[in-house]
Amino acid sequence: LLGEDGTIAATIFAEMSALAARTGAINLGQGFPDEDGPMEVLDAARQAITDGVNQYPPGRGSPVLLEAIARHQQRFYGLGVDPGTEVLVTAGATEALAATILALIEPGDEVVTFEPFYDAYGGLIALANGVHRTVRLRAPDFQPDLDELGAAITDRTRLILVNNPHNPTGTVFSRETLELIVRLAERHNAVIVTDEVYEHLTFGVLHLPIATLPGAFERTVTISSGGKTFNTTGWKIGWLTAPAALVTAILAVKQFLTYVNGAPFQPAIARGLDLPDSYFTGIAAALQGKRDVLERGLVAAGFAVSRPHGSYFIVADAAPLGYPDGADFCRELPALAGVVAVPIGAFCSPEHRPQYASLVRFAFCKKVDLLERAATQLAALR
Ligand code: PMP
Ligand code: GLN
Repeated sequence: LLGEDGTIAATIFAEMSALAARTGAINLGQGFPDEDGPMEVLDAARQAITDGVNQYPPGRGSPVLLEAIARHQQRFYGLGVDPGTEVLVTAGATEALAATILALIEPGDEVVTFEPFYDAYGGLIALANGVHRTVRLRAPDFQPDLDELGAAITDRTRLILVNNPHNPTGTVFSRETLELIVRLAERHNAVIVTDEVYEHLTFGVLHLPIATLPGAFERTVTISSGGKTFNTTGWKIGWLTAPAALVTAILAVKQFLTYVNGAPFQPAIARGLDLPDSYFTGIAAALQGKRDVLERGLVAAGFAVSRPHGSYFIVADAAPLGYPDGADFCRELPALAGVVAVPIGAFCSPEHRPQYASLVRFAFCKKVDLLERAATQLAALR
């Protein structure tokens, strides 16, 4: 994880946010919203601090949050989980991923992910001395080839790590793909780890948690986070739900990573999870409108665009504009158009990076007027 010269390589998100800060360009790189979430949630955190909820919460999480997570799984997905044994609160989805991977694989075990993949996956698999195998998603629709998926999963596979809706492509996987993953996991006795942090951010398609499919729950760790759903990415309140035996194994690792986190934010996220259905449909509809603004702008500027059905992100191909290298393009983009984006190569293994060379990711979880300004500035590329 260190560079050749012994320094830490900054994550692509930190590097691109620094570029935006330095140049004053509009930051459509790192995915974080530029508006606060619901007042009820913010007020609940303030109230909890005032009420003295400021010491270590219980190791599995505050009971109010564990119960709210269980209610949420029941309300949205009909999944019954026991808040006492089948839920674990973590320091963001990131710690849930870290503790799960460290707990469930031995050195040399294979972990299969789609590629491009969220950057932490590669780092965490490396930290656990796992072997990372990928199934490639290709433009324009970024759906996997099911034969390739079948071939990648073998008796050496310990974990199948799915991210749905998918960062960076915005793909929402079909029921057929998810069902095949469950069948392959059963056949090869693998555990499914599913990162569903964008579960409430889908556009015109329903989110289908893999754990709801027949045969899946008993071998699935489902991960989510309050960051995306309540615009609180800096609070780092995440969680996972899984059968009790898996939660126990993961807790054994988690207790020595952070032990616990975010005492006053836990009841606040619980408040958010209990908001009425209209809140959840409202955030998806608002984000869909933002997607449409940015997509129109990118198309008008001459990019070839893959329409995302979920997440914060849209992938655009800079090749039609005469830029074959997305990394170079992203470095020049602040000067060219006053906008920051992230090259898709940052989500790829070095060997497969050339196949994604001209693709870049733009985040649309921003105010509409900012997206409109970005669209106007990008038109200068034509
Ligand atoms: N998984 C995916 C796919 C993400 O995009 C992100 C980041 N936003 C995370 C995990 C990390 O979530 P958290 O900030 O809750 O740790
Ligand atoms: N998940 C966010 C993204 O993909 C950023 C998270 C981070 O900065 N590590 O942009």
